[in-house]
Amino acid sequence: MSLFEKFEPIAAARRALAESGVESINVVMEQVLSPTEALIEGRRTILAGTNNYLGLTFHPDCVQAARRALKSEGTGTTGSRAANGNYSGHVALERELADFFGVRSVIVFSTGYVANLGMIATLTGPGDVLLIDADSHASIYDGCRLSGAEIIRFRHNDPADLDKRLRRLGERAARTVVIVEGIYSMFGDRAPLEEIAAVKRRHGAYLLVDEAHSLGVLGERGRGRAEEAGVEADVDFIIGTFSKSLGAIGGYCASNHPELDLVRYANRAYVFTASPSPSVIASTRSALALLRAHPELRRRLWEQARRLYARLSAMGFRLGPEPSPIIAVRLVDREQALAMWRGLLARGVYVNLVLPPASPDGGSLLRCSVSAGHTPEQIDQIAQAFAEANATGAPD
Ligand code: PMP
Repeated sequence: MSLFEKFEPIAAARRALAESGVESINVVMEQVLSPTEALIEGRRTILAGTNNYLGLTFHPDCVQAARRALKSEGTGTTGSRAANGNYSGHVALERELADFFGVRSVIVFSTGYVANLGMIATLTGPGDVLLIDADSHASIYDGCRLSGAEIIRFRHNDPADLDKRLRRLGERAARTVVIVEGIYSMFGDRAPLEEIAAVKRRHGAYLLVDEAHSLGVLGERGRGRAEEAGVEADVDFIIGTFSKSLGAIGGYCASNHPELDLVRYANRAYVFTASPSPSVIASTRSALALLRAHPELRRRLWEQARRLYARLSAMGFRLGPEPSPIIAVRLVDREQALAMWRGLLARGVYVNLVLPPASPDGGSLLRCSVSAGHTPEQIDQIAQAFAEANATGAPD
């Protein structure tokens, strides 16, 4: 058996997609026109699968800050902060994030994936326990695997199941990290954090919340699901990303634990990889300032999200459980999902195609993500394209 035989299932899946005329993982945006539009196959296309929740990727403040940093500090840091030293922007961003979250300290990572991987694998090891929501993101699963800790899954969004499992752990609960997400990335549902925090408190465990999809989206100040639920004091570690609401790339962990700085230097995913480029840090700082200064961005995002959810729901589509900037349209099977995805693209609408085994419950779905940058007209065009693609499939 060659090294590559194990990739045969992937090759077969790709062949099947190609045969059905869907090259969803090879979509090329020939020209990106704005946070919500690109040219795809020469066609002006509305982007509804970006995670660009606040639509800040072209904001003049972010672009100008990045441009200035590029000019004054160069294209890259060319190494790890632990080895090569700190650029002042990285330190300033950590301070600003700590101020935003009202916590003692923050570590900036090169991506959100790396933030989860590094934090989980460093915080826990053999003898510790990771109690994670079954629908957790791949970066959480990978961090768990790398840690060497015992991994236990609890039923998605089920505080009673979490409670039962923590009770069984007895004294080991004190060495357990519970991991959940603020908003789940496939169906857009929120974690019942009020109950989860109460369970965590009762058993004396730690709580890590991945707010990748909820930063800038939930909470009065945009701090995420923990803020919205009023349980920030119970969250030991907040993980997040710069790649969604903040429109760049990078990740962070925010915590009130004074030991966070020790975790930083024990963290191989921090120590042994290059820190983000100065321009990325600069645009992220500007985006964070905009997020803080303009709550109306969040309001606009929710108006458009509710509008699309209502439109699709009225057309009879089966959607995720609640309105959210992530709107999952559930389809009967893979064939219907492929035909709809193709039909939408042909009508100038790009969404994410999610096929088994990528979706949490093995279903086939089209995942839309809404942006504050979408106009009501664009939302109506997206809904219209769904109606037409559903009725007729792909136009000739
Ligand atoms: N956590 C969750 C829940 C995510 O959805 C993602 C990205 N899709 C990440 C972490 C990783 O973030 P990044 O893109 O910054 O690596």
